[in-house]
Amino acid sequence: MIYERVCYMCPKCNHMHFFNAEEIPTIICPECNVQMVCVEKKFVSAEQEKKDEERRERLYRSYRSATIVNCPYCNSINTSKISTTSKAVNTAIFGIWGTKRHKQWHCNQCGSDF
Ligand SMILES: [Zn+2]
Ligand SMILES: [Zn+2]
Repeated sequence: MIYERVCYMCPKCNHMHFFNAEEIPTIICPECNVQMVCVEKKFVSAEQEKKDEERRERLYRSYRSATIVNCPYCNSINTSKISTTSKAVNTAIFGIWGTKRHKQWHCNQCGSDF
């Protein structure tokens, strides 16, 4: 299934809004009440759209992981996000004991996970 998608961006809050081309989109940002600008117009399949969505999600996640988190134990900012890969490995190896499963961050200073 192929359909046309339009993407509008709010110049004030930089939020992206996606619309199906057939439904006349409201081009006023619901948050800022200003007119948005059309930044993208494309024909996509539902499949492609799903891929794009996943890519955006990944970008968003890598952006989030770039934020600095303090270690709750030693207060160091020398922390790194435990990647889903190492989490998956951890679950595979330590799954039975449940170690590290819900931990998302690793402190490079004192070595604790939180
Ligand atoms: Zn806005
Ligand atoms: Zn620490």
